[in-house]
Amino acid sequence: MSILFAASEIFPYAKTGGLADVAHALPEALRQEDERVYSIMPLYNQINRDKYDIVFSGLTFDYWLAGVRHQFDIFHKKENKDEMFIYNPILCDRSGLYHDEFGDFGDNALRFGLFSYAVLEVMIRMELKIDVIHANDWQTALIPLLLKTKYHLDIKTVLTIHNLAYQGVFGKEVMDELELDWNTCFKFDGLEYFDHVNFLKAGIYFADHVTTVSQTYAQEIQTARFGNGLDETLRINSHKLKGIVNGISTEVFNPKKDEYIKKNFSVKKYKGKYKNKKALCKELGFKEIDRPLFVFIGRFTSQKGVDLILDAIDLFKTYEANFVILGSGEEFYNKAFGNLSDVSENIYVKLAYDEGFARSLYASADFLLMPSVFEPCGLNQMICMQYGVLPIVARTGGLRDTVVDFTDVKELEESKLGLGVSFDEHNLFWFNHAIAKALSLYGNKEKFEIISKHNMSVDNSWKNSAQEYLNLYKS
Ligand code: ADP
Repeated sequence: MSILFAASEIFPYAKTGGLADVAHALPEALRQEDERVYSIMPLYNQINRDKYDIVFSGLTFDYWLAGVRHQFDIFHKKENKDEMFIYNPILCDRSGLYHDEFGDFGDNALRFGLFSYAVLEVMIRMELKIDVIHANDWQTALIPLLLKTKYHLDIKTVLTIHNLAYQGVFGKEVMDELELDWNTCFKFDGLEYFDHVNFLKAGIYFADHVTTVSQTYAQEIQTARFGNGLDETLRINSHKLKGIVNGISTEVFNPKKDEYIKKNFSVKKYKGKYKNKKALCKELGFKEIDRPLFVFIGRFTSQKGVDLILDAIDLFKTYEANFVILGSGEEFYNKAFGNLSDVSENIYVKLAYDEGFARSLYASADFLLMPSVFEPCGLNQMICMQYGVLPIVARTGGLRDTVVDFTDVKELEESKLGLGVSFDEHNLFWFNHAIAKALSLYGNKEKFEIISKHNMSVDNSWKNSAQEYLNLYKS
C-alpha cells in the first residue's frame, strides 16, 4: 500500500500536543510493516533545518488562488525522501503554529487551505502513486473535499479526529478566498455550519472513512454532551466512523535509553527510577523526598481538568506527598498556576512547554494526575506507564480504554492494560478520593512496585493499532 499522511505537526519537528506524537509514530510503525508511507507537514520557520537534515527537494511551484500567486517550496529529510515538508511564507513564517499571544491567527483558514491544496499538488507534481490519503484534524480536513469537488481523483481518504473540540470554523468569505464551489461544498452535508464554514465537518462528510483515537471517544462524540455541535453529523456518518486507540512510540519513550533522564532504568534495573526521583526532588528543593511524587503534565485548558487541580491545591498542601505541575496554555490558567509557585513547600509549578523536564517527571514520578473533563485518547497515561508510573485518571474517552483501576483487578498477570486509579464523577470529592486511594497504595511499597513494574511491561506500542489502520486502508 502507498499512503500519504498529512498533518499540521509531526514530532520532533513541531509539536503542540498528541497529534505530533501520533503523526510521527503511526507512519513509522507502518513503515516497519514495509508499507510505503509519505508524510507531509508545513516547514514552519521554527523548525531547525540543519539539525534535522531537511533539504530542498528541487521542486518549487506556484499556485494561483482567487487571483493571488502563492509559492511553495518542497523539502524532504536527507535520509528519507518520503518525509516531506512544504514551505510557504503565509503558512510557515509565524511565531506559533496556530496562534500567538493575541489569539488564533486571523488567516488560519487560508493558511491550512493552502496547505491542503499544496499536499495534493505535491502528490500530482511528484507523480506519487497513492492509494489512500490520511488527513488529520481540521487543518487537513479540506483534502477529501478538494479531492472530490476540484481534483476528481479516485483516491480514498481517511480522516482522523484527534480532538473534536477544534474544528476550524470560519466566516463563509473563505469560500471565495479558497475558490471553493458554493454549490457542491456550502451545504448541510458539507462545509456549511450555522452559516459559517466548518472544515472538520466537511472532512467528516467527504472522507471515505473517519476514525477517532479511541473506541469510547468514538461513541461519546455521537452524544450531545461530547459532540461539540457535531454529534448529529457524526451520528449521520456513524457507518464510516471507527475508534482506533493510539499507541505511543516505545523508541522515543523508553526509560532504558531516554537521553533526557538522569539514570536509565528498566524492570530489571528498577532502582534507577528511585535515583531519578531523588535527583529531581533535590533539584526542585523538596524537603521530604521519600514521599510519593504526583505530577501533572499538560496543556492548561479546561479539557485537561486543570480547574479540578486548582480546586485541589489546598488539599495538596496538607498531604504527605510532593506535587509537580508542568504546563502552559490559556492566560487565565497561566496566571492561576503562576501564583502557586511559592504556595507550599511540597508543590512545584513550572510554566513551560519543556520536553526534557517532562521526561524527567515521567522518570521520577509515582503517580500522574490526569483528571480530564474529556480525553479523545490521551498519551500521557500510556507514556507514564513506560516509566513505571501509575496514572490517576477520570474515566472518560481513551482513559477509560487504556487504564484499569488497580482495585478492579484480581490477577495482575491477566490484565493486558496498565493499572492506575480511575474515578467516574468529575468533582473534587472523587478526585480527592482517587488521590487518597493512591496514597494508601503507596503505603504498601511492595504492592506499589509490583504494579509499577507491571505498567512498564504493558504493550502500549503502535503494533496492534497500526495493523487496524492498515486493515482500514485495505478495505
Ligand atoms: P493533547 O490533548 O495535548 O494532545 P495528549 O495526551 O494526547 O494531549 O498528548 C500530550 C503530549 O504532549 C505528551 O507527549 C505530553 O508529554 C506532551 N506535553 C504536554 N504538555 C507538555 C509540556 N508542558 N511540556 C512538555 N511536554 C508536554
